Amino acid sequence: MKPKAPTIDSVTTINEDGSRYFVHPADVGGRFTWSRRAVAVLLIAIYISLPFLKIKGEPAVFLDIFHRKLHLFGLTLMFQDLWLLFFIITGMAFGLFVVTSIAGRLWCGWACPQTVFLDHVFRRVERWIDGDASARRRLEDGLWTGGKILKRVLKHAIFILLAAAIAHMFLSYFVSIPALYGMMRHAPGESWEFFLFVSAVTGILYFNFAWFREQFCIIMCPYGRLGSVLIDDNSIVVGYDTVRGEPRGRAGTVAGDCIDCRRCVQVCPTGIDIRQGLQMECISCEACIDACDVIMDKLERPRGLIRHDSLNALAGRPSKFWRPRLFLYMILGAVGSGAFVFAAQQVKPVILSVLRMQGAPYFRDESAVRNNFMVRIANKRAEACEYSVNVDSPVSGLAATGASSHPLTLGPGEEVQEPLIMTVPDADFGGNFDVQVQVRGADGKVEAEKSVPFLGPFREGS
Ligand code: SF4
Ligand code: SF4
Repeated sequence: MKPKAPTIDSVTTINEDGSRYFVHPADVGGRFTWSRRAVAVLLIAIYISLPFLKIKGEPAVFLDIFHRKLHLFGLTLMFQDLWLLFFIITGMAFGLFVVTSIAGRLWCGWACPQTVFLDHVFRRVERWIDGDASARRRLEDGLWTGGKILKRVLKHAIFILLAAAIAHMFLSYFVSIPALYGMMRHAPGESWEFFLFVSAVTGILYFNFAWFREQFCIIMCPYGRLGSVLIDDNSIVVGYDTVRGEPRGRAGTVAGDCIDCRRCVQVCPTGIDIRQGLQMECISCEACIDACDVIMDKLERPRGLIRHDSLNALAGRPSKFWRPRLFLYMILGAVGSGAFVFAAQQVKPVILSVLRMQGAPYFRDESAVRNNFMVRIANKRAEACEYSVNVDSPVSGLAATGASSHPLTLGPGEEVQEPLIMTVPDADFGGNFDVQVQVRGADGKVEAEKSVPFLGPFREGS
């Protein structure tokens, strides 16, 4: 089957009858392709190494589902502190908005895991087994010979193994490397929930990278849709210089620089023709830039017929960098990041809750009024710490026993519950009052405190 000619009216990867048109992008080399490949190798190395890399004794990025904690580059958050992530995510999202407004969908072409794994892992395996684009197309259209079956089995077996490896890597972000290794050495039934999870993720990844591919970017990715509103005529995008390129035609027969060789179309992983203008399907992979530069080099014409530039500049109009939207996104990004830094500083390393015990609100005997509380203390630090409980009361006669009688040593993430009994001599009790319950560290610094009312019988004048 001949490669499909892209049109501006429809997505290339979907045929008129709604069936899938499978794109086989041609190989390309060049400064952007090599740079992206180097970045992809670095990113994959980072993805793999983050669960191994220890900061303050914990993996650099680890959502510890067993102990309900998130370790993020040395910062430890309990699940009840995860609301902080809202600020990280909004700060990062607006940071991405700024980058997109300035430089288009740079994220998609260079750093998105979908592109990193698809372009630099799965498609490379496919090229290695099935050959170049025309060989792959011939294989797709050809009969099911022994050779084709062998190639298909080999390719899909490797795809499944790669998908399983990525799924295991993904799981290591949630259960830790030693736990994952332990599960892998035992029968699947012993940790069947994780086995099912990894199997499901493997299946989804295999489906995505073996078949769905660029459809994810075109029809599913919300950032791809958002890109259309974040990019304006001043954003730097991958574009075709119409002024220089048109009218297109055979070299020497027309005035334009585009010789209509269609190399830029053949290498495009989403099957579009960038000469038809910026399109939603463009993931800024820059393959068309490298492809066209090679042609321009051969023709001894200047590179950059397809290049990074703003749509204004490509159309010969003046382009400006600073626009109101850029200021807005920068302010919102700074607000999100600033809010996170502020909120993270407010997070206490100790959780304290003081609850009145069930039953009567207070007890009274002949000589004293007694209030019974239950104190819960959780150590959110990554190391064991010693704490003491103090009671700060405006009534000098108050005596406390239970949790306040002895130091408490709590392991990392450990929590304890202990009764705290407060007693005030009847003669000293002049009416209800507030008591400060404090948790102090080994250095005596107050790390958390709660105010609770001390209740007793009604007193005249109280
Ligand atoms: S690769 Fe360059 S010269 Fe060839 S069709 Fe595309 S824009 Fe024209
Ligand atoms: S048009 Fe160019 S930059 Fe955009 S997806 Fe296609 S090859 Fe990549």
